[in-house]
Amino acid sequence: MKYELVCGIETHIELSTKSKIFCSCNTKFTNSANSNCCPVCIGLPGTLPTLNKKAVDYAIMAGLITNCKINAISKMDRKNYFYPDLAKGYQISQYDMPLCENGYIELSSGKKISIKRIHIEEDAGKLIYKNDLTLIDYNRAGIPLIEIVSGPDIQSSDEAREYLEKLKLLISYIGISDLKMQEGSMRCDVNISIRKIGENKLNTHTEIKNMNSITFIINAIKYEADRQIKIIENGGEVTKETRKYIENKNITESMRAKESINDYRYLREPDLVTISITQNHIDKLKKRLPQNPLDKLKYYVNELSIPEHDAKLLIKYKKISNFFDETINGLKKPKIVANLIIGEIFARLSTENLKEEFNISVSSKDLRDLALLVENKKITANYAKSVLLKMLDTKKPYTSFISVDDIKDIDDDTIIKYCKMAVDSNPKAVNDYLSSRKQAIKSLVGFVMKKTNGKANADFTKKTLISLIEAMKTS
Ligand code: ZN
Ligand code: MN
Repeated sequence: MKYELVCGIETHIELSTKSKIFCSCNTKFTNSANSNCCPVCIGLPGTLPTLNKKAVDYAIMAGLITNCKINAISKMDRKNYFYPDLAKGYQISQYDMPLCENGYIELSSGKKISIKRIHIEEDAGKLIYKNDLTLIDYNRAGIPLIEIVSGPDIQSSDEAREYLEKLKLLISYIGISDLKMQEGSMRCDVNISIRKIGENKLNTHTEIKNMNSITFIINAIKYEADRQIKIIENGGEVTKETRKYIENKNITESMRAKESINDYRYLREPDLVTISITQNHIDKLKKRLPQNPLDKLKYYVNELSIPEHDAKLLIKYKKISNFFDETINGLKKPKIVANLIIGEIFARLSTENLKEEFNISVSSKDLRDLALLVENKKITANYAKSVLLKMLDTKKPYTSFISVDDIKDIDDDTIIKYCKMAVDSNPKAVNDYLSSRKQAIKSLVGFVMKKTNGKANADFTKKTLISLIEAMKTS
């Protein structure tokens, strides 16, 4: 019997506002524990929260880029649970009236993974275990979060990966988070169940909490689905529980029975007013959005004929994709530019960080001028690569390395001159050719190409070389 995966992902993303969500404390990361704290974010009695408007705007932008409906009215609620990382005894979150609802992210197969909701909430503090002590750092308490909840639509680990990569890409384009997964600014909880293919009902699921690497998430999903299939095949039942992923063993392990929604005793946060969003405000935020990178990806592939793999590489980094857009303006063959960026420029930007920062010494105009020479067949693509490397080293335009003579069309006399030179200086290749090793002609053609920077007409060069060699035979 075959089974399929039923998976939904809740993604928490830290917003890069300057101050926290309910107080004016700094959100900057620091190693000095409990230094970015005040009575509000450590939950002292008698303090009152004030909602950070920027956090609301950022959440709306996340909703817009994921095709959500933005609710005109929403509110904050208290989610009660007792844990030392939460000084107040409750987290201020959103329960039944979230800011954004009913969006989706489209996968390249055309399948849409639904986004049930995006709500705003505060992050909790961090527990640090040292010997037999537990220390608490409240610097993270009150950092604004959005929680993006997908529907249980993900049916394979490949779909999970694509969903997460696209979500990350969309969020990176709107610039509302630094998205440093290894530092925990994007963390996922994954709900997993399995069912027999063809069935529609949802079976008992488990939740794997708090993972901050796409690779770990994928491994955890694979492991957990297999574990559940084995239980069912052996006649057992999956227990509803919260589990954690153990990275170094690549397994999931039970943590606790899963809370039901009633355990949280949600109640309306009485210290904050209703959030009311006007259409005018939504329109203003819409105008601030960049072009949707997933639309851009389709455009690169379908309209510009960039291979999908290359298009994804260009899209992945917003600054690079913008630079590419500027450079190809007016060109007929954008692929020439794509190849130069992915080849020569990427080679100089070896790390993800360098690609994201994208500090290079060639302007889009200079790169366009160079690509135009290739487009007009004045120089070869290979020659352009070597020139680009010099441009990157020296910050000078191509005119410093290619003279007017270089890009002048080459005449037949010049080709004949180089063919003679090729024959004179390569007696071995000539002898090989004369002793019926005809492929020896290739190295002679190569010689002429090198001398002419690849501009000589290959057919004419070959014919000229052959007639020169044949003439030697008869003389
Ligand atoms: Zn504070
Ligand atoms: Mn949450």
